[in-house]
Amino acid sequence: MTKKPNILIVYTGGTIGMVKDYETGALKAFDFSQISNKIPELQQLNCTIETISFEEPIDSSNMNIDYYVEIAEIIANKYNEFDGFVVLTGSDTMSYISSAISFMFENLQKPVIFTGSQLPIGDLRTDAKENLITSVQIAASSDNGEPIIQEVGLYFEYKLYRANRTTKISAEQFEAFTSMNYPPLVESGVHLNFNYPLLLRLRGEEKELVFRKKLDNNIAVLKLFPGITEKVVRSYLGIEGLRGLILETYGAGNAPTEKWFLKVLGEFIEKDVYVVNVTQCAGGSVILGHYETSSGLKSLGVIDGKDITTETAVAKMMYLLGEDLTKERFKRYFELSLRGEIRE
Ligand code: ASP
Repeated sequence: MTKKPNILIVYTGGTIGMVKDYETGALKAFDFSQISNKIPELQQLNCTIETISFEEPIDSSNMNIDYYVEIAEIIANKYNEFDGFVVLTGSDTMSYISSAISFMFENLQKPVIFTGSQLPIGDLRTDAKENLITSVQIAASSDNGEPIIQEVGLYFEYKLYRANRTTKISAEQFEAFTSMNYPPLVESGVHLNFNYPLLLRLRGEEKELVFRKKLDNNIAVLKLFPGITEKVVRSYLGIEGLRGLILETYGAGNAPTEKWFLKVLGEFIEKDVYVVNVTQCAGGSVILGHYETSSGLKSLGVIDGKDITTETAVAKMMYLLGEDLTKERFKRYFELSLRGEIRE
C-alpha cells in the first residue's frame, strides 16, 4: 500500500478561523488544532493532516514582510516532512502574501495552496468548508507519485489560480478573487479538472529548494489620475531610502507627456530608484512605447511591468531588491517570468 500524502495546514489568521459566539454575536478565533471537530469531513480525505497555527492569529491587513518570512520558514523547515501545504490567511491581502511566498521559493516542487473564506468557519452559510476541503484535496493530488501542483496557488470558490496572478475583486461575493491574465490551474466541479498545460514545471536540472528570505519594503505605489499635480509626484522623491516605485499608469501603460512629469520621473531614475510601469486595468498588458504617451517612459529606462498585477509587482520588487543585483540585471529579471507571474 502506498503511503497517504501528508498535508500541513498553516493557520495565520483571517475570517476563516473564526466562530460566532451565538450569545454575544461576536466573531472570535478558535483553537485551530481542533479543525477536525469543525470540519469532520477532513478525516474522510485520503491524506493525513497536521496543523500549525500562528501563536496570535492576525487579520491580513496587519501582514508585513516579517510575517511573510514566518510563513515561508514554516514551509521551508517542514518541506521534506510533508507532501503539500495549505496556508490560511485573511483574504484581504492574500494576493500580496502568496505572491511574495512564490518568489521566496525557487525550485518549488510541492503544492503551497493559499485559501481563506468570506464567512467564518462556524457560520451556517460558510464558504470556508469547501475552500479548505478542496484546497487540501488539491494539495494531496499526485500523478505517478509526483505532486500535480508544484507551485504557489490560491484557491477560492471552485477555482485554483496561480497565486501571483490573482487580485481580490469582491468584499461581498464568495467568488472573491480573479486572475484576468492567466486561466485557472484547476476547476472544481463534479471532478477536479487540472489544466495540465498551464502548470508550472522546473526547466533546469536544479532540483534543490532554494529559500530566499531577504525582502526590502522600501518601495511605494503611485496611482496616476487625471489632474495629478507635480507636488504629489515630487513628494515621493522626498521619501528617505526609497528604492522602488510602482507606477500605476493608464491602459496599455500610458502616462501624461507633460514636461514636468517626465522630468520628475527622470529624477527618480537618477536617484537609482527603480520605476516599474504597471497598468491600472484589471486585465491586459503594458505595451511600453506603443503610444506616444508611454514612449517617454521607455526612453527614461522605466521597467516594463507587462501584464503583472500591482500586488505581484509589489512582491517582486521587495524580492528583487533583497537580492544584490546590478541595475541591468534588476531590469532584466523584473521583465522576465521567474515564477510564471508575467507574460514571457
Ligand atoms: N479582514 C479579513 C482578513 O483579510 C478578511 C478575510 O479573512 O477574508 O484578514
